[in-house]
This record gives sequence, structure tokens and C-alpha cells, in this order.
Amino acid sequence: MIKQIIIAVAIFLSCAFPFYGQENYSILDNIDVPTKLIRLVDECLNDFNNPLSKELSLIEDPLSVAIINKIKYEELANLNSNKIRRKLINFYPDGLKGHILQFACYHQNELVLIWNLYAKKVDDAYSLESSIYYNTASYHSTKVGKTIYHHINDINISRAKTFDKKNHEIAKQFNLPAQSFDFYMVRDYQELQKLIGIDYSKKQIGQTRDGWGVIKDQFIFSVMNNEDFSHDIFHYYSGTVHERPTRNWVTEEGLAYLWGNAYYTIEHNGENANQEELVEILKEFLIQNPSLDFYSLFTDHFWNDTTEIYKELAPDIKVGRVIAGIICHEVQQTKGQEGLNQLITCGDGKDRFDNFMDMTEKLLGLNRNNFDEKIRVYLNR
Ligand SMILES: [Zn+2]
Repeated sequence: MIKQIIIAVAIFLSCAFPFYGQENYSILDNIDVPTKLIRLVDECLNDFNNPLSKELSLIEDPLSVAIINKIKYEELANLNSNKIRRKLINFYPDGLKGHILQFACYHQNELVLIWNLYAKKVDDAYSLESSIYYNTASYHSTKVGKTIYHHINDINISRAKTFDKKNHEIAKQFNLPAQSFDFYMVRDYQELQKLIGIDYSKKQIGQTRDGWGVIKDQFIFSVMNNEDFSHDIFHYYSGTVHERPTRNWVTEEGLAYLWGNAYYTIEHNGENANQEELVEILKEFLIQNPSLDFYSLFTDHFWNDTTEIYKELAPDIKVGRVIAGIICHEVQQTKGQEGLNQLITCGDGKDRFDNFMDMTEKLLGLNRNNFDEKIRVYLNR
């Protein structure tokens, strides 16, 4: 009987959703699952913002919405077509009123994603949410300033206070009130994925150091169990004030290093690297290499740093961004926030370095010809 209902639903779905017809959706043989629930998940994934039936209650909380969008994105990431196949591979109760549904997603015969969702029966309908709440049910919550940390191990309160201080400072630079955040602590990107219900992602194989945030103006996932997300908070606040196409990414990264941090170090228990210590290391490097050319250091090692100047500290710190931070500091000292706003919004695209240099010429008299000489002066201020 259940199989007959599934076939009937599948025929209906094959008419309604051409890519998710009978042949693109399956259930492992020995799983006994309400067909209405599977239909809900299908609707949710295919027509997420426009529920079709009143008997189906869709996720309302913003974090679940963001997570399901991420699942949809990762199902199709790097694929040439949207012809994927989902298979329900597990279905079990949580001991209360809910169930976990686990799906494997295939492109042709290749596994691309395994993910899960939490479903609850409410009267005659089902409500769906991300399994993050199920996965973090035993977590602690600690409020530090404007931020609520969700964590399983102890948190570093002094680092959390640093983040709160920077949250206020950076918001103030943009004339904004400091925002409140929900902050999930995770060890690495793979743990982050599991927490939000992505058990395997082909796209993210080997990925460890990336965080995720700020999601829906509220949620942060910071890896290496680090309470300070101020680098990305800078990008976030900047994005609420300035239009995306105008934002010059050389300035953005320079200021994110200067006001936030340069992400996590290998040493010092994953403490963040700050601009001051990076400048000191650069000065040491200059003593060892007195004839170095600052302009090529700035432009050639901005996206991919092969100099190994910071290799002891962390693999992904970039000397080009440290130099951008030094210039931003100079603009801040001499032209204040007004000057920085001009430098942030001088335009991006492939001319971003030219745009940046045109603006520094205007603000500081810094150009390609005097770059080396002036950076050496700024370094020692
Ligand atoms: Zn950045």
C-alpha cells in the first residue's frame, strides 16, 4: 500500500517538478516513511519560498532557511546540470515528537552530498527545520556583551570580550549600532557542516579553515573554536553601508586585517594574528632583505602569498593585505573615516589595484613611483 502511494505521489511530482520525477527520487527499500513527509521535503527543496499546500508547514526560522539554501547550493555546486537524484537512506525518531531524515544526493552515479533534516508532526501537518537544533540540544549558551555563544566545551571569555569590544568599535566606525549575534563554536569546517546537517559534501572535501557568517544578519560559525570573528564582522558591517560593486577589495582586506584580524595562527593555540605583530614580522623581513620591492610585494602576494614571510604563523596570511592595512592606517590617521570611506568605495573589478592607487594618490600623494619610499616611512611611524 505504501509503495502504491509513493508511486502516486511520484507521478504527481513528475508533472509538477520536471527534474524531480519518479526516476530522480527514491527511498531505500526497508525504510517505512509517511509519504506526505517525503512530499513536504520535496516541495521544500524545490519550491522553497513558495509552499504549495496548507497541510505542509515549512520552516520559519531564518537559520533553517539559510541552512536549507546551503544544502541546495551544495547539491548543485560545480555541476553542469541540475539533474540530481535524491535517495532517503535513513529515517529515525528522536525520542520526542520528531524524526531525522537523511538523504544521499547523486549526480549521475556519483555521490555529491549526504544531508539531513529534522521533521516534526504538528496536528495533521509536518514542520521541517534544520537538524542544527537537534544536534546542539546539549550545548551550553553563554552571553558575552552582545553575543550569545553556543558551545560544548568551555569558551575563552577574554577572547569573547575582545570580539565584543571590536564589534562595538567597528560598528561605530560605520556609524551603526553594534549588533547582537548567535555564535556557534566549532573545531573546523567539517564539524561546522555536520552541525548544520551536512554529513558529506564532495565540494568541501579537505576543507577545514573556513567559517560561515554572518548569516541572516545574526548567525556566526567560527572555526578553530575561536570566539573572535572580527575580520568578517568588518566585511559584514561594510556591506550594510556600502554597495557591493563599489567596494574595493584591496581596501576591504586591508581594513579587515587592521580592525579585525588576519585569521587563526597555527601557533599560540589558534589565537588570531593581529596587524601589529604582522607589521613587526614584515620589518624583520625588511632587515633581512633590504632591497625588496614593496609594490610587487603588495600586488603579487595579495591573493596568494608565496613569500613564506608568515609561514610559521599561519598558511593563509598574505603580505599584500598587511601592506594594504598599513596604507589604510595612514589614511585613517590623516583623513579619518571620510577618507577611508572614499578608499573603500573606489570601485572593484579587475582594475581594483589601479582604483586603489588613484585614490591613495588623492588622499596621501601615494602612487606607483613613490610607493616603496613612502611605505618604508609608514612602516616606522
Ligand atoms: Zn576578508
